[in-house]
Amino acid sequence: MNDFDVIVIGGGPAGVQAALAASSAGLSVALFDENPQAGGQVYRAPHADMAAYGDADREAGDALRRVLGSSAVRVFLAHSVWAVTGDYRVDAVGPEGPLHCCARALIVATGTTERVVPFDGWTTPGVIGLAAATILLKAQGVLPGRTTLVGGCGPLLAAVAAKTIAGGGEVVAIADIASSADWLCTLPALVTRPDLLAQGFAWWRAIRRAGTPRYARHTLERVEPVGERLRATLAPCDASGRPVAGARRTADVDCVAVGHGLVPSTEITRLLRARHRYVRAAGGWIANTDRDGRTSRERLYVCGDGAGIAGAAAAAAHGTLAGLVCARDLGANDAIASTAAIEAARASHARNARFGRAMGRMMALREGHVQGIGADTTVCRCEDVTRAEIEAACMAGAQDVNQLKAWTRCGMGPCQGRSCGDVAAELQMHGVPGKTRESIGAFSARTPLRPVAVEALTGTYTYEDIPIPKAAPL
Ligand SMILES: Cc1cc2nc3c(=O)[nH]c(=O)nc-3n(C[C@H](O)[C@H](O)[C@H](O)COP(=O)(O)OP(=O)(O)OC[C@H]3O[C@@H](n4cnc5c(N)ncnc54)[C@H](O)[C@@H]3O)c2cc1C
Repeated sequence: MNDFDVIVIGGGPAGVQAALAASSAGLSVALFDENPQAGGQVYRAPHADMAAYGDADREAGDALRRVLGSSAVRVFLAHSVWAVTGDYRVDAVGPEGPLHCCARALIVATGTTERVVPFDGWTTPGVIGLAAATILLKAQGVLPGRTTLVGGCGPLLAAVAAKTIAGGGEVVAIADIASSADWLCTLPALVTRPDLLAQGFAWWRAIRRAGTPRYARHTLERVEPVGERLRATLAPCDASGRPVAGARRTADVDCVAVGHGLVPSTEITRLLRARHRYVRAAGGWIANTDRDGRTSRERLYVCGDGAGIAGAAAAAAHGTLAGLVCARDLGANDAIASTAAIEAARASHARNARFGRAMGRMMALREGHVQGIGADTTVCRCEDVTRAEIEAACMAGAQDVNQLKAWTRCGMGPCQGRSCGDVAAELQMHGVPGKTRESIGAFSARTPLRPVAVEALTGTYTYEDIPIPKAAPL
């Protein structure tokens, strides 16, 4: 018997709106998220001890949490989903231990993972992800460093720099792989959301007022510890992100915050063997869907950035759309999940996705960038696998990324390849003649989807508690 009509996995803007839409149409809905509060990455709730601040994301997140709290959705927070089966049984671990429930339909809204293209010294303590820096700033009220160098690509560069400056930190420089002309090309899409464009300009005004230089077409080449600080070396790069000849710049800082875009989290849809395709501009592998988020598998839907990077505003609209369409498919209240409501959600999603996809393209993986990785640089930090080891496996005949994993242990550590999978597959594509990202494939998804302590599943017991069957007579 099913516990719920629908289970939604992921409590960001996409998952919350999907749950609210399906619930308003009369379905019984459960929502799971591993964080202690809903909001996802962009509307991450601050820690209870943190002083209140009047940031637009904070207000939007508080509003989202209020609406969810007063809805009929059954919310399971601080619950990590570690397994999902084909009959839509969801297994999670929460503060009270393991829990499972079943549903007629599943909506996957699991967002993204940050991508960092490795460079010498990227695993040095004090080097953190750009997106990780947003967590420090938003949820903990902590600066990434007193002096920070911000590097990489995409809109999080300006967001992190501006928030760090607003929090009283110094941003010594921004190294942006994109050129100013690249940013100008996005303008026609950005004007579709003048409010978000204005927010971007406000960030850049604050950065300029603080006197922070931005080095366009520059990439981080190396970070090394110098005493208690870090010395970052920046290199000029070409449009593909490959370092080129030219004067290097160095900066001594406490922290290097670096990010090269986001990769859609597709572990659950891959585990359920829905069909996927590789779309570089959308962040990498994404599930094949129709325009409403239906996958190739019956009653399985995806929405938000996990379906392709399009930003928070598009994620919310996509969530509403997937929730309504799922309700319609399950035969729920027609008045709520009406054709007009679905059309309105489609239009809202299309408008917002134009802006978000332009930002997504700025964060897409650049081929030259990956080719600039040094031979001895670690690519898989869980298992310490270098580029040279990946290339040796390719030379020895590893034909796809799962063979590479088996031969080198790349992607076999606790993060299950979420951090290195994209870059490792890209290196393999270049290392094996005639290969494409489609033919290299993606790491097979495996349970547990999140690291789970065995104790959390078994509970505590003594050996006396284990029933030992009597020995069979000889
Ligand atoms: C670390 C990080 C920080 C970011 N910060 C910003 C920012 O400051 N500003 C901005 O505009 N954009 C930011 N982004 C991009 C932003 O996430 C998206 O544009 C937007 O939040 C997408 O919404 P979503 O609902 O699709 O996914 P998300 O908001 O990412 O929500 C997905 C949720 O699913 C949960 N989840 C995933 N897998 C499981 C599982 N197995 N079990 C339980 N829960 C699970 C995640 O913890 C998360 O809460 C960030 C992205 C990342 C990765």
